[in-house]
Amino acid sequence: MTDRFEATPAFADALDRALAALPLEERLAHVAALGARAVFTTSLGIEDQVITAAIGLNRLEIAVSTLETGRLFKETVDLIGETEERFGLSIRLYRPEQADVDAYAAQYGLNGFYDSVEARHACCGVRKLKPLARALEGAGIWITGLRRGQSGNRATTPFAEFDAERNLIKVNPLADWSIEDINAYVEAHAVPVNPLHKRGYPSIGCEPCTRAIKPGEPERAGRWWWEQDEKRECGLHVAEAAASSSLPEPA
Ligand code: SF4
Repeated sequence: MTDRFEATPAFADALDRALAALPLEERLAHVAALGARAVFTTSLGIEDQVITAAIGLNRLEIAVSTLETGRLFKETVDLIGETEERFGLSIRLYRPEQADVDAYAAQYGLNGFYDSVEARHACCGVRKLKPLARALEGAGIWITGLRRGQSGNRATTPFAEFDAERNLIKVNPLADWSIEDINAYVEAHAVPVNPLHKRGYPSIGCEPCTRAIKPGEPERAGRWWWEQDEKRECGLHVAEAAASSSLPEPA
């Protein structure tokens, strides 16, 4: 790969190959040294807590941000401060615009997302996608906690891919990690995690849109559980959703 950062498919492919052979900390250090602004968006879920820990413990030049949708679980909000204190870093919060929230409520109702996929996507657009766009302003690299084992929709997640819509390179440094790898890292580094994970929530999003899963259900079965589409995503990780004409989700 060239030494000079470029937000191009060719650079992403070369970066994907370079990251494959490295352990997590070196993947992140490699990305932080590329010379582009690197932004990690955390949902405070267990995978993202591992990445935050690796960034904080290694003092890497990577901005850590989260989308504070206004509908998060109290446990998730509490974890923000606890994580900042544990790793000595700041997590920047991106909130929806109040005018957008008001307009949504006027058109669909505050909880209108239960009524249709279109209304749900509209809510995620206001509370997640627009704040995400602000979080990624000026970024050349977007780091996420996606894992191949999280769902069939994520089974081919690469370490690096070109995001044409946002004109940046998306890096998924945990793509090949299993949930056992995640749990081992959490244990070894005393990483604080959301107490909801132990109550049957492997994947945690907004409170009204997340339920606990039953034994044997896929990890993301508790997200937008009332919808039938197997490819439910919130819109953050849009490429696959757009390609399937399903809709976008964050985290
Ligand atoms: S997950 Fe639910 S509450 Fe959160 S932004 Fe999407 S539709 Fe709205």
